[in-house]
Formats: sequence, C-alpha cells, structure tokens
Amino acid sequence: MTTTRALVAPSAGAPFETRTVEHRELRDDDILIDIAFAGICHSDIHQVREEWGPAIFPMVPGHEIAGTVAAVGAGVTGHQVGDRVGVGCMVDSCGECEYCKDGEEQFCTKGAVMTYNGRGYDGEETKGGYAKRVVVSERFAVRIPEGIGLDEAAPLLCAGITTWTPLRRYGVGPGSKVAVVGLGGLGHMAVKLAAALGADVTVLSRTEAKREDARELGATSYAATGDPAVLKGLRNSFDVIVNTVSADLPIRTYLGLLKPMGTLVNVGLPPSAFEVPPGALVGGSRALAGSNIGGIPATQEMLDFCAEHGIGATIETISADEVDAAYDRVVAGDVHYRVVIDTSTLS
Ligand code: NAP
Ligand code: ZN
Repeated sequence: MTTTRALVAPSAGAPFETRTVEHRELRDDDILIDIAFAGICHSDIHQVREEWGPAIFPMVPGHEIAGTVAAVGAGVTGHQVGDRVGVGCMVDSCGECEYCKDGEEQFCTKGAVMTYNGRGYDGEETKGGYAKRVVVSERFAVRIPEGIGLDEAAPLLCAGITTWTPLRRYGVGPGSKVAVVGLGGLGHMAVKLAAALGADVTVLSRTEAKREDARELGATSYAATGDPAVLKGLRNSFDVIVNTVSADLPIRTYLGLLKPMGTLVNVGLPPSAFEVPPGALVGGSRALAGSNIGGIPATQEMLDFCAEHGIGATIETISADEVDAAYDRVVAGDVHYRVVIDTSTLS
C-alpha cells in the first residue's frame, strides 16, 4: 500500500481532519503523483455537505489536482518521473464503449469512476486531491504545459474543462455574444476562455462588487442582476449563456436574455429543480442545455490553449488548516476566484 497524509471529511458537514490514508500499490498502468496544489470546487462542498444525496465517508475531496509524477508502473508509456501532470474529475472508465473511444469518458456506459466519493471497478473507494499524493491510471493524467504554474493550473482541471466544453460545443468565437452567470470558480474561467476565443463577454453577477474584476478577466460588459430592470434591458441579447450558479436561479428570466435560437447551457448543480414553462423555450426556439465536465482529449486541448494564451486561474492560495473557513467563503461568493490548497502545508 502507498500511504499519504490527506485532509479527510469524517462525516457530512464535519470539519476536516488530517489523517493518513491508503492508496493501492501501483498497477502496471498507474502513476504516483506528488500533489503540489488542489483546487476547491463548489462540487466538493456539495458532496462534503451531502447536498447531492448520500456520500461515502470518510471522504478525501479534490478533483482539481496539479503535481509531478513521482513513480510509474511497469507498463506506463505516456508519463515519466518528474513530468508535470494534472488530474480532474475522473480516474477510470471502461475504455471500450463508444464514448470512451470518442474521448468522452464522462459518458462511459459502464460509468466513469469519479476521483473521490466514488468506487473503482474493483470496489476500492476513490480518494481525491486534498492530499500529498494520489495514485491514478496514466490515462487520466494530462500534461500541464510549461508556462502555467501548477497553482494556477490546478483549477483548470475542473473549472477550466467544464467551461471549455460548452464554449466549444456551441461554437463560441469571434462575433459570439456570450453571457456568464455567476462570477466564481467556473464563471471566471468561462470569461477568460470565451474572451480568448474571441467572443464578446458579459458578466451577470448579483452585485456591483465584481465589475472591475470582470473587466480585467476579459469581459466587455457587466450587469448586476439584483435589479430586475437591468435584466429586462438585456432581453434578446445573447447567443450563448453559461450558467455557473451553485444555487437556485430563476432560469426562465435568463432564457429570455437569449436571442432567438440561442442556447442557455447550465453547468451549475444546485440540488433544486428549474421551473421552465414550455413557452419560454418554444417562443424564440431557444434551447436549455446541460454540460458535464469534459473528456480527457478536450482537457489536454484546453490546457494547451491556456498555455498558448497565457491563461491560468485567478487564485487565492491557502494552507491545509484554512479549508473549513474557505468553504464558507466559497458559498458566500467571496473568493477571487478559486481557492487552491498548498498541499505542502499538510503535516
Ligand atoms: P463558486 O465558485 O461558488 O461560484 C458560483 C457563483 O454563483 C458565485 O461566485 C456567485 O457569483 C453565484 N452565486 C452563488 N450563490 C448564489 C445565489 N444564491 N444566487 C445567485 N448567484 C449565486 O462555484 P463553482 O465552483 O464555480 O461551481 C459552480 C456550480 O457548478 C456548482 O453548483 C458546482 O457543483 C457546479 N459544477 C458543475 C460541473 C459540471 O460538470 N457541470 C463541474 C464543476 C462544478 P456572483 O457573486 O457573481 O453572483
Ligand atoms: Zn469541480
């Protein structure tokens, strides 16, 4: 067994504890990664607090992992000791179904194995990135290009790929008018990526507080959504809206901001349901879509794009003993714009 120090959530909503946890011995296709930084995604909070239903405890969250390869299994061909690598939300899939063959492993018909709060095909409980080390199949580790610091690369492994996927799928580029709802971890990456793809980007945030930041991130317009008149004035404005909000949102109002034939892509995952009358979609032939992370080839493509365009996440770095407090700050929407844990502070 490989052991590592890790931050463990002992039960739903309980404070984190530092413990020693075990990983399997390296299989032929496995790599051992020395983790440098792990991002805190709002999905970690949803799961630690059991907002998505029963979860597996004790839990080591973390699916925005950046580090270096410390050891490789006998059959590993894609990575070497010392390589800078990242791991996102998945650590295994069947590799044989039509989706895996297409590089859309998140839709694996056998069920992709999630990085934590999941079970491998052998029944082993998975453990994520709030730790000093992790063991994963080399197929689920991507190369982090030189030029992106490991700290600002970590959030790209979830926030980056989750926003990249819908922007590419819905053809965002020069001439596109894009709105991003919620300026948090995912939202700020959506702004950076859409702007780098050439789109005209508007940020829709609850208050005026993030206006200047939004401009620096690449947005050309900004609206504080607390005032209903502001949203009224934006009707029929956007080709694509990316909703990253982690809580209830009156989605019907936002559908009205789409131009005819526009698409609102939802990536936020609050536990509550949307209420959408058919007319809100039919009237302007508008679409309400969802998007689930992204496959491994697209993750590498996104990282290479970020390196080419000088993009990393905008981060606040914390030590391991600050994670409980950071969770409350994420929920309050008070983080600028992604918290990453410096895992060298885990003792
Ligand atoms: P985050 O950093 O907390 O950002 C969410 C943003 O939503 C906040 O910054 C805030 O923006 C806005 N917001 C928060 N509470 C709100 C409320 N009550 N009403 C209106 N707006 C509110 O979270 P994140 O890590 O970006 O994740 C966002 C959501 O995406 C989560 O639900 C997460 O589980 C989900 N997610 C989905 C996928 C996927 O594959 N689809 C992947 C990763 C995460 P303002 O302050 O600007 O208003
Ligand atoms: Zn995430």
